[in-house]
Amino acid sequence: MRGEKHDRNLSFPASFGGRGYAPLESRVRIVGGGLTGILAAFQAHCMGARDIELYERLDRLGGIAQPDIVDGREMREGCIYFGPEGDPIRTLLEEHGAEFADFENRFGSVSTGADGLTYLDDFGGPSLPAKDIALTAPEGETLGDRLASYSGEIAEPLERYVRWHTGCEADDLHESAALPMAINRVFPAGAPLETLAEAKRSDDLANEVFGIPRKLWGYTSNARASLPVGGFDRLFAQCREALAKIGVRVHDSHFATAKRMLGEECAQDIVVWAASPIPLFKPLGIAAPRGPVRKFATYTFSAHWSGPVPFYVQNFTARGSVFRVYVYKSAGSVLLTAECVEKCDEAALKREIHTLLEGFDGALSIGPQLHQSFKPRWLFHSLGTITRLKELRDALAAHRGNRFVTGAWETYAKGEKFVEVQNDLQNALLAPVAVNAP
Ligand SMILES: Cc1cc2nc3c(=O)[nH]c(=O)nc-3n(C[C@H](O)[C@H](O)[C@H](O)COP(=O)(O)OP(=O)(O)OC[C@H]3O[C@@H](n4cnc5c(N)ncnc54)[C@H](O)[C@@H]3O)c2cc1C
Repeated sequence: MRGEKHDRNLSFPASFGGRGYAPLESRVRIVGGGLTGILAAFQAHCMGARDIELYERLDRLGGIAQPDIVDGREMREGCIYFGPEGDPIRTLLEEHGAEFADFENRFGSVSTGADGLTYLDDFGGPSLPAKDIALTAPEGETLGDRLASYSGEIAEPLERYVRWHTGCEADDLHESAALPMAINRVFPAGAPLETLAEAKRSDDLANEVFGIPRKLWGYTSNARASLPVGGFDRLFAQCREALAKIGVRVHDSHFATAKRMLGEECAQDIVVWAASPIPLFKPLGIAAPRGPVRKFATYTFSAHWSGPVPFYVQNFTARGSVFRVYVYKSAGSVLLTAECVEKCDEAALKREIHTLLEGFDGALSIGPQLHQSFKPRWLFHSLGTITRLKELRDALAAHRGNRFVTGAWETYAKGEKFVEVQNDLQNALLAPVAVNAP
């Protein structure tokens, strides 16, 4: 493969705007076979790279999005969705043979209202009985700074929620933790709707930090979403076939070391590090950050639910153990996953799930438990982690220029990761062409 000549008139898929990239001789080494690494391989190929290696430490691709399989059914540990038709990630995967089915995106939230629990349909954030929607611009980058921009009647319950969910104070986390905790938009239910709508229309900060349930506001941007036909396991099997077809060499059960990727052997190659960056710190002489590491427990049950499927409900009450319930279908069965801030007893867990779903349209019965796990998640960064990651990026840039692509480590949402890696890959792959151009 190496040094092979390529046709410069390759056709490029719509997801890259039909632009052509020169086929390149550089070897691209991708560390991590999660969604980011798989997409990076397809992206690099689209841009013209033809010598691509992908290393995955486990014996299967998919990373965090790949569920365990029990009796042919997927034990999903969270609700990872794709966008409707036209979503760039979905388009790129479809161009490589994956199939997706759209569904009506239904979800809800449970919060503490003035008189007990508030169940809110089609709103995935907290609803608080607050009237005061005055905001002050955040003074710093912590989640505490972000929350302090709200009035006290909004900030205080959110601070309690952060403590319950992560075990940390909001001041100890970076503000980006708002998104994985789903507190990036709050509905102040006591404020007049028209005043709130006007604030969102006229003020960027208000638009960013307040939300209005879509039935009250007619805003329908996330009304539809999609999931891979046949599930995530089939999606990643299709990706593996597609990678082989375009000549990407997948090395699974292969732990790529930082020492090797930063060493002489790979010095001329483009490296995409789409995995945890922690092993990169030591070789570059930077102290690794000690992030807030909190383990979350996940339990999956078989279930009957007469309401919409898929469906998820976020719990913002800061009480009990469950922070999200997700009802979905796999291999013809309805399953229910409860994501919890701590391990919990099965009977208490089932009672809590019933309470969280009883305010929504649908009758629930919960069957036997099929699966459980207890794992940390790399989703909540401290300010110190973000600072250290920047130091790491600077050191990598000094050491390798733009040929070391850092896999969008800070970002939670896969759409943002996709764009960041695409831009950095483009810089890395196009640079040699620019240098050689007459
Ligand atoms: C519960 C949950 C729900 C989510 N829901 C959504 C959602 O709805 N929408 C959304 O946009 N995002 C969501 N996300 C985030 C989204 O899942 C991630 O952005 C995406 O799946 C992460 O993919 P990744 O490849 O970056 O990381 P990972 O999936 O973590 O993949 C990293 C891979 O690298 C491998 N690896 C690590 N070190 C090495 C090494 N040294 N050598 C070789 N291999 C290595 C790992 O085994 C792993 O397979 C969710 C995340 C979680 C945890």
